[in-house]
Amino acid sequence: MSREIYPMEEKYQEYLTDESKNQGSAVSISFPESEEEIQEIMETLGKENIPVTIQGSMTGIVGGSVPVGGHIMNLQKMKRIEAYTDNDGPTVTLEPGVSLEELEQGINRNFKGKGYFWPPSPTETTASIGGVLATAARGINIAYYEDTRKYVSEIHLVDGMGKLHILDKSSLDTVIGSEGLYGVITKATLLLEKKPEENWGITFFFEELAQVNDFVNGIEEIEDTPFGYIVAMEYVDRASIDLVESKKEFMTKIKELPDVEPEFNHLLYIEIGGKEDAITQIAEKLMELVIQCDGNPDKAWAVMGEAEIQRMRAFHHSVAECTNLFIEEARRNDDRITKLESDMALPGLSLKECVEFYTEAAKANNIDITIFGHVEGRYLHANILPKNYDEYERGRRLLSFWNQKAYKKYKKITVEHGIGKVKSDLAGCIFTKDQIAQIEEQKRKYDPNRLLNRGNIFSEDAYDKDCSVYEAGSGL
Ligand SMILES: Cc1cc2nc3c(=O)[nH]c(=O)nc-3n(C[C@H](O)[C@H](O)[C@H](O)COP(=O)(O)OP(=O)(O)OC[C@H]3O[C@@H](n4cnc5c(N)ncnc54)[C@H](O)[C@@H]3O)c2cc1C
Repeated sequence: MSREIYPMEEKYQEYLTDESKNQGSAVSISFPESEEEIQEIMETLGKENIPVTIQGSMTGIVGGSVPVGGHIMNLQKMKRIEAYTDNDGPTVTLEPGVSLEELEQGINRNFKGKGYFWPPSPTETTASIGGVLATAARGINIAYYEDTRKYVSEIHLVDGMGKLHILDKSSLDTVIGSEGLYGVITKATLLLEKKPEENWGITFFFEELAQVNDFVNGIEEIEDTPFGYIVAMEYVDRASIDLVESKKEFMTKIKELPDVEPEFNHLLYIEIGGKEDAITQIAEKLMELVIQCDGNPDKAWAVMGEAEIQRMRAFHHSVAECTNLFIEEARRNDDRITKLESDMALPGLSLKECVEFYTEAAKANNIDITIFGHVEGRYLHANILPKNYDEYERGRRLLSFWNQKAYKKYKKITVEHGIGKVKSDLAGCIFTKDQIAQIEEQKRKYDPNRLLNRGNIFSEDAYDKDCSVYEAGSGL
C-alpha cells in the first residue's frame, strides 16, 4: 500500500541526502503512487502538524530535497505518462516522477518520426519532471529556448492541507521555481517543440582567455534567423577538462573522445540549429571568426546528427558529474565536506571578466576550482575542489567572498540551480522585499502552517537578513 507512511529505518538512509551531499534526518517516509494518495497523506500529516520534504530524483545540488526532520514524500513511483496530444501543438501530460530520460523515450515512441522534444534540458537526465519544474531547471539549450515556464501549460498542485489546485497558464508561473514551498506538483502538461531540421555542434579550443573572449564577443554579434540560430554556447576551463580526462575511461558515452591537446586552456562549444544552408553560413562565419581571434579552425571538433550531438552533450554533462565525483571522493576522507558551487549570473561582464571574477581570488588563496557553464546570461559555474577540510573551510570563505563581490556590483544575486538549503542564507540578497512579500502571500494560501519543504529558500532568519553587510565586501 503506497499511501502508507513508513518509519525511517536503515534501508531508507539514501533518502537523507541529495547531490549537494548534505545529510538530513527524518522520522518517516512515503512513496505515493497517485494524486489521491498524495492528498490523503498530506491531509493526515497536515492534521498532525508534521513537516514534509518533497523528493523527486534527489539530483538537486542545493539540498532542496534533504529533509530537516519530519516526513519525506518521495515521488519516484509516480511514473505514468497519461496522455500525448497533437492538436494545438504537441503536449504530454505526466506524473512528476517521470525522469527527463523517460520523457524523451516516451516522446520518441509516441510521436515517432515527428521530431518533437521538451526544450528545458538540464543535463542530468535522471532528474524528475517534478524536480525540474520545482527548480525551474534548464540546461544547455538556454541560449535559444530560454525559460522552463514557457513549456508548461497546466500543473496539478496538492497543497499543505491535501487540497488539489489545478493551475493553468495564467497562474502556474509562481509555482515553477518555488522549490516545493507551495505544494506537491502531482501532474503537469508539457508543451513540446519540433527539433531543428539539422543540428551541428562545434567545439573550439583556445590557449588564451583573451582569444576565447574575443571569439564570444564576435559570436554575440551574429544574428539568429528563423532558419539558423545558436542553440547552445558553453564554456569549459582547463581544470574541468583535466578532471574529465582523469575519469573519462569509466564514462561510456565519452570514453572514445580524443583528449584535448595540452596547450589548450579553454574550450567553447557552440550548437547551431536550423536548416542546412543557414547552419552552413553560421559555421563559416564561426570559422572566419576563430581565425581572426588567433584560434585554429583545423583543431575544432565538428559534429552533426543526433548521436554525435548527444555525445557532445554527454561531455558537458560529465564536466558537472566529474566535479561531483571529486566531492564524493573527498568525502571518503572527511564527511564534513559538501559541494561548494557558485552558479551566479554575472551579466554585463565579458567572458574574460567572468572567468577572472572567479580565478583571481581562487589563485590568490591557493584554492583549486573548475569553471564551466552557459555563456548566455554569463551563468558560469565555479566549483571548489577541496582536498581536505582546511581547503573546504577556505573554499566556503571564498564562496562567500564571491557572493559579496557580486552583491556589491549588482545589488542582487541571481542563481541558476535554485536556493534550497545550501544558499538559503542568501535569500535576502536574491529576492527583493516585494518578492519576499509575494512568496509569503502564496505561502499563507497554500501552506499556512508552514509544513512544506522547511528550510528551503528561507532559513528561519532569512527574512531579516541584512545584505548591506555585503556592500562593503570583507575580503577573504
Ligand atoms: C551532474 C548534474 C548535472 C546537473 N545539471 C543541471 C543543469 O544543467 N541545469 C539545472 O538546472 N540543474 C542541473 N542539475 C541539478 C538538478 O538535476 C536539477 O535541479 C533537477 O531539476 C532536480 O530534479 P530532481 O528530480 O532530482 O529533484 P530533487 O533533487 O529531488 O528536488 C529538487 C527540489 O524540487 C522539489 N521537488 C521535487 N519534486 C517535486 C514535486 N513533484 N513537487 C514539488 N516540489 C518538488 C524538492 O523538494 C527540492 O526542493 C544537475 C545535477 C547534477 C547532479
